Amino acid sequence: MRIVLLGAPGAGKGTQAKMLADKHQIAHVSTGDIFRNEISEGTNLGQQAKQYMDQGSLVPDDIVLDMIEPYLNPKGFVLDGFPRTLDQAKGLERMLNDANAKLERVIQIDVPKDALIQRLLLRGRSDDNEKTIEHRLDVYQKQTAPLIAHYKELGLLTTINGAQDIEDVFEDLLKAAKS
Ligand code: ADP
Repeated sequence: MRIVLLGAPGAGKGTQAKMLADKHQIAHVSTGDIFRNEISEGTNLGQQAKQYMDQGSLVPDDIVLDMIEPYLNPKGFVLDGFPRTLDQAKGLERMLNDANAKLERVIQIDVPKDALIQRLLLRGRSDDNEKTIEHRLDVYQKQTAPLIAHYKELGLLTTINGAQDIEDVFEDLLKAAKS
């Protein structure tokens, strides 16, 4: 199973990706988690990423693409937080092509903006302050939301309602992943 979860910050990608990966025994690949690990280990990559993350901006595409390649196990994965730009999506397609693999589904977890802000303020991660949240939602609209049309065109997109209980979102996600 090779799946991408799309959604704004706070949409619940991480929670749902973990549940899906556990159920299907596939890799859960969260670029945000990978970067946070790199930062806590004090690596070069972490240092490069940190300045962007603290501001709520995207880490540059070339850095992200270099980092993600070894994680793309063609046997199966659920990607959480990647791709986030059209160039990342194209990079992903290239890497999968090289491995003779294809994306099976892109599932967009849709949540209204008010609810996103509420959730992020409750979560309280270091980049979850009011100023950064607005910027991240803006970045999502401008840079990541165009992926919705891109994957629709490729016939890969399913949208589910993320403004439900975790278990109900997961039920919809499982259905979408099978379709
Ligand atoms: P959220 O989805 O709540 O913003 P993430 O953990 O996915 O949280 O991402 C946190 C930060 O990590 C982003 O704001 C961005 O700076 C960086 N990041 C994560 N994934 C990517 C990516 N694919 N491209 C660029 N930057 C990324």
